[in-house]
Amino acid sequence: MTTITSATPTAAHHAGSTPASTDLLVAGLGPAGTALLSAAREAGELDRWLDRGLVVVDPDGDGSGQLGGYAVRSDTTGRVFAEVGRAALRTPTADEAMLLARCDDDEPLPLRVAAQLLAMAARPTLSAVAQALVVGAVTSVTPGPEGAKVTIATAAGPQSVAARNVVIACGGRAWMPAELSGLGGAVVHSDAVIRGNVAARGHVLVVGGSHSAFSAARVLLEGGEVDRVTIAHRSPIRVTYADAAAAAADGCRFGPRDVCPATGRVFRFGGLRNDSAALYRAIRDGAETRVELTTTPVSKLVVSADLVVAATGYAERVGSLLPRGGGTCTFDTDAALHQGGRLVAGVFGLGLGSGRRRDTATGGEPSFTSTIDGVWFYRNVAAPAMLERISST
Ligand SMILES: Cc1cc2nc3c(=O)[nH]c(=O)nc-3n(C[C@H](O)[C@H](O)[C@H](O)COP(=O)(O)OP(=O)(O)OC[C@H]3O[C@@H](n4cnc5c(N)ncnc54)[C@H](O)[C@@H]3O)c2cc1C
Repeated sequence: MTTITSATPTAAHHAGSTPASTDLLVAGLGPAGTALLSAAREAGELDRWLDRGLVVVDPDGDGSGQLGGYAVRSDTTGRVFAEVGRAALRTPTADEAMLLARCDDDEPLPLRVAAQLLAMAARPTLSAVAQALVVGAVTSVTPGPEGAKVTIATAAGPQSVAARNVVIACGGRAWMPAELSGLGGAVVHSDAVIRGNVAARGHVLVVGGSHSAFSAARVLLEGGEVDRVTIAHRSPIRVTYADAAAAAADGCRFGPRDVCPATGRVFRFGGLRNDSAALYRAIRDGAETRVELTTTPVSKLVVSADLVVAATGYAERVGSLLPRGGGTCTFDTDAALHQGGRLVAGVFGLGLGSGRRRDTATGGEPSFTSTIDGVWFYRNVAAPAMLERISST
């Protein structure tokens, strides 16, 4: 995570200032939570939110969330992050303008730099909500008929606030299926690999076919001690193309349901981009012989690997905050929380782990059925929809 700047309020300013009740509580100041507050600010809603009661909670968020901790380049282009910066900083300083200009192209960015840019872009919004910030971590959310009771661990001790609406934007938790977690110490999640926290050698089995799988494979091979990587994937590996002509030129077979109706891109959401796409093409074309792709079931492959990397994605965090025994947590298309199949009124999810799927409002190829994440998506689709949802209650 990037360094907290002087524009970011500190614990000393806010510890102990939690109100007893509030209209809205936003937990998490990563790219998703910040996108919601920025959308409110840009729409002229933030002052109304502050008047009606707003509490924002994060232990140390500067708007960049977890992105700065990864040792890889972005799967989106620098332009995406520059756009966020431009929208937020109407009169950038010379240093800010230089960083914006440096990032504003179709190349990927080291995520460390992307995080710097996001933190920079978040400053005006974080200043605007400084009076509402509680430095701490939400530890429990207990839903009730009039909203939820939220407990926050702060440096001054636990604090409690009754909130009519709660938006959980605390990021995701690395998720591993039982068949892999049961294998014990020789299994790690791709999140740890992509952070550069795993030393491996020999033959590594990567389970999954997403960006994380290819990013993990790259990091392991760059480490120099791994000589063979097997990527075991269930669904076909796809690459994102600017349009149908580019897909056809690359020998890609696709149908009408693989084309985004809004942009004409092929496999817009489901395809690999940038470094992951380059690695996939190198494997496909025989230029990268250390990596093998297979659809053989994992149970048959595990025995031959020195390490198994589960590139199996991220799940919601909200389940661990709710009272025990309520059942599985899911979010509907309005991002409202359901537990055990029942609506939990007034509790919403935003960002990584909140499971937003494709619909006509999101764009993207109709054949894509997985969850959608990304800074552009939070800023342009998820946060505006949440703003409308919250403002109408
Ligand atoms: C490896 C990887 C690479 C990615 N690369 C890209 C990319 O190139 N481009 C792109 O657009 N997207 C990318 N994404 C997807 C997405 O943009 C990021 O995951 C992004 O960090 C998600 O933002 P978030 O705000 O949902 O969560 P996070 O970034 O995890 O932020 C969560 C925030 O919540 C706070 N928090 C956590 N727990 C609590 C609590 N209990 N109470 C209060 N606050 C809490 C944290 O301090 C943090 O500030 C990538 C994701 C991963 C996993």
